[in-house]
Amino acid sequence: MALTASPKNNQKTWIELSRKNLRHNLEVFRRLCGPATPIWTVKANAYGHDAVLIAKEIEKMYPPLGSARGSARAAKSKKYLGYWFGVDSIDEAVSLRREGIAAPIIVLGWVPYPRLKELVKFNLRLLVSSAQTVKQLSQLKNKNKIRVHIKIDTGTTRQGVLPEQALAMAHMLRAAGAVIEGAAMHFANIEDVDNPTYGDLQIERFTHTVSLLQASGFALPVVHAACSAAIMTRPETVLTAARIGIGLYGLNPSALVAARYKKQKRGAALKPVLAWRSRIALLKQIPPGTPVGYGLTEQTARRTMVAIVPVGYADGYDRSLSSRAYVLIRGKKCRVMGRVCMNMMIVDATPVADAAENDMVTLIGFDGKRQIAADDLAAAAGTINYEIVARLAEHIKRIVV
Ligand SMILES: *Cc1c(COP(=O)(O)O)cnc(C)c1O
Repeated sequence: MALTASPKNNQKTWIELSRKNLRHNLEVFRRLCGPATPIWTVKANAYGHDAVLIAKEIEKMYPPLGSARGSARAAKSKKYLGYWFGVDSIDEAVSLRREGIAAPIIVLGWVPYPRLKELVKFNLRLLVSSAQTVKQLSQLKNKNKIRVHIKIDTGTTRQGVLPEQALAMAHMLRAAGAVIEGAAMHFANIEDVDNPTYGDLQIERFTHTVSLLQASGFALPVVHAACSAAIMTRPETVLTAARIGIGLYGLNPSALVAARYKKQKRGAALKPVLAWRSRIALLKQIPPGTPVGYGLTEQTARRTMVAIVPVGYADGYDRSLSSRAYVLIRGKKCRVMGRVCMNMMIVDATPVADAAENDMVTLIGFDGKRQIAADDLAAAAGTINYEIVARLAEHIKRIVV
C-alpha cells in the first residue's frame, strides 16, 4: 500500500484528536449549560490538543451565531445558542482570528499594555482586574469598542479585584470609555466536592457583588463563575455563562468530581479526545544485569527485549515518568525503563512476544481495549491530567481522526 503523507506514517510521534469524542463532550456540556453560554476554554493550545484545530472543529459542528450559517441555524431554531472561546493570551486570541475563527473570544489572562489596541483590531473581549490596565485602556483610540468583564477575586487570590473594590472598578471602566459587558469569578477548590463550604462562600460573595453592581446601574448581561468541575457537580453555579476547559477534552477535573458526577447521573461520561502515539525505533535483546539508560538507574532483571521509542521530555513526556509509566504496544502494557531522555525513552517490550520495529506505541490513549489515560501519567508523575496534556509539545503533529 502506498504511504500517504499522514502523520501516522511520516512522523515519529503524532497526536490523534477524535472528532466524535469532541462532539460528544461538547453536547454533554451544552446540555449541562442549558440556556447559559458555554465559553470553550482553549488556552495552553487547547490543553495541548491544538487550539486552532479544536476551534475550527467546533465552528464546523456549530457555526457561530455571527456567521451566515450560524444565523440561519438560529433563525430555524430558538434553541440554537451561541458560544464563545476563552484564551489566556492576546497571542492565542490573534492566532485564532487569523485562522478565521469568528465566534466571540475573551482573553482571560494579562495583556501587555502595548498590545491592548489589538483587542479593538481583532474584536476581542477582556477580563479586567487591574486599575493600571484600565488606565491604559482609557488612552486607546476606539476604546468604546472594547468589551470588558470585571474579574472579582472572591477568595482564590489570583486575578480580580476584591469584592469591595468592584464598584469603584466599574465606575473607572465606565469613565475610561469601555463597554462593561460582564463579571466573572474563579473557584479555588470546587474540585474538592467533599468540602463545599469555601465554594459556597465564593459564589455568595460573587452573586452579592454582582447584585450590588446591577443595582448601581451596571447591567452585566454576561456573568460567569463555573469551570468544568462546577458545572459537573454544582449546577447552581452556572449563571449566564460557564467556562469549560478540561471536560471539553474528555478529561475529568478530579477523581472526586468524576465520582460525584456519575453518582448524580447529571450527564453521560466524558470521552477523551486525544491519543498520543509513536513507533518502535529499535528492538534488541539484552542479557540480565545490564544497566539501562543515563545514570544506570536500573538494570534488566532478566533477559529483556528493549524497545527504543523516539519520544522524550522535550516532546512533553515528563522525566519524572522515568521507570514509572507504561506505554501500550500491540495492546499490551510495557513499562518505561531507566530515565526518560530528551527525545527518546527505553521501554520493556518483553511482554509483547511478536513486537517488531515500526510497531505503533501508544503513550496516551486506547490500543484495543487497554488504555493509558492522561490520569495514569499524572498519577505516575505526581501531577494532574491538566499538566500532562498542556505540556505536550507544539511541534508534535496533530490530526483529527
Ligand atoms: C482554565 C480556566 C477555566 C477552565 O477550567 P477547567 O477546570 O479546565 O474547566 C475556567 N476559568 C478560568 C479563569 C481558567 O483559567
